[in-house]
Amino acid sequence: MEIYSMLDIIGILGLPFPKHGESSYYIQCPCCDDPRDARSKHLNINLRKNVYRCPRCGLSGGMFDLYAYYENIPRKNVYNEIRKKMGKLQEPSGTPKKAIPIVSQPVEEIENPIIDVESRHATYSALLSKLNLSSDHRENLRNRGFTDKEIEKLEYKTTPVMGMSSIAKQLRSEGYYLEGVPGFFRKDDGEWTFINEKRGILIPVRDYKGQIQGLQIRRDNTEKRKFRWVSSSDMKDGCKAEGWTHLAGPISEKIILTEGPMKADVIHTLTGITVLAVPGVNTLTQLKLTLEILRKEGLKNVKTAFDMDLLTNYHVQNGFNNLLQLLDDMNFKFGTYIWDPRYKGLDDYIWESLMNKKR
Ligand SMILES: [Zn+2]
Repeated sequence: MEIYSMLDIIGILGLPFPKHGESSYYIQCPCCDDPRDARSKHLNINLRKNVYRCPRCGLSGGMFDLYAYYENIPRKNVYNEIRKKMGKLQEPSGTPKKAIPIVSQPVEEIENPIIDVESRHATYSALLSKLNLSSDHRENLRNRGFTDKEIEKLEYKTTPVMGMSSIAKQLRSEGYYLEGVPGFFRKDDGEWTFINEKRGILIPVRDYKGQIQGLQIRRDNTEKRKFRWVSSSDMKDGCKAEGWTHLAGPISEKIILTEGPMKADVIHTLTGITVLAVPGVNTLTQLKLTLEILRKEGLKNVKTAFDMDLLTNYHVQNGFNNLLQLLDDMNFKFGTYIWDPRYKGLDDYIWESLMNKKR
């Protein structure tokens, strides 16, 4: 039996190929996307798992299902059709014809792929508009140097403690997608809901257009792993957040690169300088993609500003070296901000200096 991959099927069907190195990408969904709108792409092709799924309409399956759908033929005929098209039907004479086993991919095991950023932004914005910011959280943010106006603009909110099913229901009735949006999942009764996390501040993580890519939570009363992604990866029909970067401020020739979206918002608010944040120095995949976009838009100079414990923590140091290597490989000018090591982060240092000036 010949072994085919999703890429073979895509080639035969004449569908768009992925960009170099991508193992998961989107094409137009033949079921629900408007063919006149070339930007509308909801069908996720996963080359690693050889599966596809549209988080919008639910069309999904393995590579043979994809072929059967496009060519409108019974699935059991697919294998022979593909062999014919691949020019491999010449059986050596005398070989007994055997039934060809086709292993069917159990569709329910396919994890929900993340929906496009436009849809995520719409859903998260609508979600945040229904939530409040508690007074202790507002106080916490003011103490970092944010004004109320800035807090409102950044859309920081307090994690909801209850009523998530009704908010999810409302969002659905208003036409927002919950499939493929990390944090949302289905309960056993099939109804949609949102994760019930430890109480904390919800932080929108935005791309260079200001669109919300995902949400982080700054959890109350925790020292370990204070910041976490809103994710529903182990839940029914849920999905996993990626290590998205966050841009605070407009794209410019020079930016500061730091760790953590809330820190980036603080530094930008206090200095006016545009700040890009990675979720951690050991997660650089999304950073490379973002830097490629920003470079096209004119970014030339990157100043890194990571916490001073970088100087002592080997694990972090290693990730930091990889990050500098990445900046070098991409031909950016780069340098590192060094500040008074009594302060953990650049934001603390700037804040303290500003306060001293006022005194
Ligand atoms: Zn679809």
